[in-house]
Amino acid sequence: MSIVVKKFGGTSVGDISRIKNVARLIRDFREQNPDTQVVAVVSAMAGETNRLIALARSCVVNPDERELDVLSSTGEQVSVALLAMALIELGLPAKSLLGQQARISTDSRHTNAQIQAIDDSTIRATLQQGFIPVIAGFQGITESGDVTTLGRGGSDISAVAVAAALKAQACYIYTDVEGVFSTDPRVCPQARLIDRISHDEMLELASLGAKVLHPRSVFFAMRYGVPLVVLSTFKPGPGTWIVRESELVENPVVTGITYRADEARLTLHKLPGGIQSLSRVFDALAKEEIFIDVISQSGIEDQLANVSFTVPDEVSSKALELAQALVPQLGAEGASIDRNISKVSVVGIGMRSHTGVAAKMFEALAREQVDPQMISTSDIKISVIIPRKYCEIAVRALHESFIEMKPELGQES
Ligand code: ASP
Ligand code: MG
Repeated sequence: MSIVVKKFGGTSVGDISRIKNVARLIRDFREQNPDTQVVAVVSAMAGETNRLIALARSCVVNPDERELDVLSSTGEQVSVALLAMALIELGLPAKSLLGQQARISTDSRHTNAQIQAIDDSTIRATLQQGFIPVIAGFQGITESGDVTTLGRGGSDISAVAVAAALKAQACYIYTDVEGVFSTDPRVCPQARLIDRISHDEMLELASLGAKVLHPRSVFFAMRYGVPLVVLSTFKPGPGTWIVRESELVENPVVTGITYRADEARLTLHKLPGGIQSLSRVFDALAKEEIFIDVISQSGIEDQLANVSFTVPDEVSSKALELAQALVPQLGAEGASIDRNISKVSVVGIGMRSHTGVAAKMFEALAREQVDPQMISTSDIKISVIIPRKYCEIAVRALHESFIEMKPELGQES
């Protein structure tokens, strides 16, 4: 018998009637697919993890991370039990399994643990006994038996890891949107539902700002070749399939436009010492786990360079502090920050075989008089850094050019 994993996010199990709705959805699937076994993975009820973390913070300013994991993981303990009860009431034998019971082993980085292995014996035994396993997402257990959590939004990772361990046919991620859109529908009402997309493209869209899936879950899916489906719990539809590139028949040049509104740009002025100095700066930021993105260097004169790079705005003060501390040591003139920037990117594997994407992109931006301040490219994306006030305008302009109008591009090479 084949297996599918179905993961239900917080809003899908947000209250009792929604939990019952999920139970019916699983029952209907089982009736229509009698030869397929279902494994459910569930998030905490919407808002619950936030509530638990706030509860900890109302107790102490800096909650101990081991204890925070014991606390925040209880949200999923509640939802798995309720869903299992609802399934049983519908006549479907079901059993909830906590992360530790499902043998999801992680490292010991509390609140941000990484899955190291899943021993699938308990899940398989549960299936063999005729039960639907209802597994708590977000949780794991260390070698020494401590409860861990996988970081916010981590139940997507649990689901894909379970699907990989079971060699499931597919991992369905049920959520409150119909799938992955070509851009954020709140910014651009013309956004379209994407029917198929490669893991690579999804990884770019997920890490560049599209919030539907946890980036690490896409990474897992790619590594283990798990087909992922993102679809709505509330509105029936095919959703978006995230599959291997070789399974895509048609590759549009650009699949999606994505953005991060809240970026900041840090600049080190008149930095001497070339690459040596740069590596010290980036090393200091990396040690604090500050994610650096677009990097550019300009005005190299007398061996002095102005070096800029972008960081998420929420860590920009910290990044500036670190850079300022290094300024005297490195003999630079100073460090400054611009908090009014955004990053907008076009993504698509078709770029690998088509020319003219950058030209088309700049043309669309120029029409709106948006001047990119920095540009970065990879084989499947082009990103521009622009003033924040133009972020949404740029997204709409690029969507119109690349998705709505199907651009005339250069030769397929
Ligand atoms: N309940 C956890 C959170 O809110 C995990 C998840 O929902 O994916 O972050
Ligand atoms: Mg989520």
